[in-house]
Amino acid sequence: MSKQFDVIVIGGGPGGYIAAIRAAQLGFNVACIDEWKNGKGGPAPGGTCTNVGCIPSKALLQSSEHYDQANHHFADHGIKVEGLGIDLAKMLARKDQVVKQNNDGILYLFKKNKISFFHGRGSFEKSGDAGYDIKVAGAAEETITGKHIIVATGSNARALPGAAFDEENILSNDGALRIGAVPKKLGLIGSGVIGLEMGSVWRRLGAEVTVLEALPTFLGAVDEQIAKEAKKAFDKQGLKIELGVKVGEIKSGKNGVSVAWTNAKGEAQTLEVDKLIVSIGRVPNTIGLNAEAVGLKLDERGAIAVDDDCKTSLPNVWAIGDVVRGPMLAHKAEEEGVAVAERIAGQHGHVNFNTVPWVIYTSPEIAWVGQTEQQLKASGRAYKAGTFPFLANGRARALGDTTGMVKFLADAATDEILGVHIVGPQASELISEAVVAMEFKASAEDIARICHAHPSLSEATKEAALAVDKRTLNF
Ligand SMILES: Cc1cc2nc3c(=O)[nH]c(=O)nc-3n(C[C@H](O)[C@H](O)[C@H](O)COP(=O)(O)OP(=O)(O)OC[C@H]3O[C@@H](n4cnc5c(N)ncnc54)[C@H](O)[C@@H]3O)c2cc1C
Repeated sequence: MSKQFDVIVIGGGPGGYIAAIRAAQLGFNVACIDEWKNGKGGPAPGGTCTNVGCIPSKALLQSSEHYDQANHHFADHGIKVEGLGIDLAKMLARKDQVVKQNNDGILYLFKKNKISFFHGRGSFEKSGDAGYDIKVAGAAEETITGKHIIVATGSNARALPGAAFDEENILSNDGALRIGAVPKKLGLIGSGVIGLEMGSVWRRLGAEVTVLEALPTFLGAVDEQIAKEAKKAFDKQGLKIELGVKVGEIKSGKNGVSVAWTNAKGEAQTLEVDKLIVSIGRVPNTIGLNAEAVGLKLDERGAIAVDDDCKTSLPNVWAIGDVVRGPMLAHKAEEEGVAVAERIAGQHGHVNFNTVPWVIYTSPEIAWVGQTEQQLKASGRAYKAGTFPFLANGRARALGDTTGMVKFLADAATDEILGVHIVGPQASELISEAVVAMEFKASAEDIARICHAHPSLSEATKEAALAVDKRTLNF
């Protein structure tokens, strides 16, 4: 007889491993199957996020930011640097080490929570009275049975037709995180979150970066005023961003990549680069899951079809994270993982999509939660806006980084906070206050009346809340 589990999680990314931990905390007998291999063929749980996403990108963003600071900003602080250089091999090895620490951390958490970990590919075999039979194909093959199945198989980078990823010249996020030498010229197709972060890393390390974006607006999902402010900063840094372009033929050869493209005016152009990163979105991953064997329904995008509670078309089969609808964010996957485990236990797990924060870890950082000004205008909701520039914030001046602002949007009648948008230093950390405030349905005045430490960047948040009522104190 096959091994029996209450819950089997397929996929050990942030959605899957967190779902497994929460289910184990709730007293279930849990298995988690993940197929990611490290360089030695061993297990590397943590998914895209840990191996080729959030974690390694932030490691390289930090290293490249240190270099950029030493190269361009230390002198302002009276710090002289001589003989500054880059040891790229060491920088990449450090990034790999950070990834490994996270992989090991997750393996430890599986042990701590008595979760049975299976290294291999999990696929549906059949359903029966005891639940679903899942085949695990790893070093050996075996079948395990689960009463509940949580599918958390994530997503893969979307390729451009006619330009398959070779991870040598034409790179996905995977190759973009391990380029062996700083390219002189780097091309980027797509100016989304991932593209901008990757472009920032290599620009800071010395590459001349050109970004080709099909959409006519820069960062269309971001509040327009904030996106404009960010674009100004990126332009100043020398990141070339071309909007409204049409990409044509892409040729890859010994000397690099040549991209034929048409600019917004319809003029034909060619971009010659050493490496090309294609970052045009991600596709839900159900490869090898054998969803057909049990009749698990996919939607028109190839994502697993789920309802608001992450229930699939099959009883006791759930799906979470990048493989289902909604924003492709690690923390969204985690929240869904917790909620599903709690629902299996008969509790009322809940994910509030209105308060999922977004962060772009460029410099300046961009972070937001809730609605943008353009969304509020489109919906006809009456609102008040308040902004406060970091230029008027004492801590930002002391840091030597006064780029950007905090912006509040609040309901015109009730003052309830509808959205908070930040571009500037530490935006990724500052946004948490806004998330908490919105979860508690706070008004802008609530934030304006709370004591914030001085001098801190968070005072800009308080001041932006005061600005909603036109009573900033320091501007
Ligand atoms: C460069 C980059 C940077 C990013 N930065 C951020 C960020 O800063 N913040 C953020 O919130 N998000 C970020 N993301 C997005 C984030 O990585 C994803 O939203 C997140 O990883 C989704 O988690 P998941 O658990 O759904 O899937 P994944 O992390 O993709 O994990 C899925 C796992 O399932 C495994 N798997 C798939 N099929 C099977 C199978 N049949 N059997 C066994 N195992 C299987 C895969 O090998 C993988 O390990 C970034 C993404 C990229 C590419």
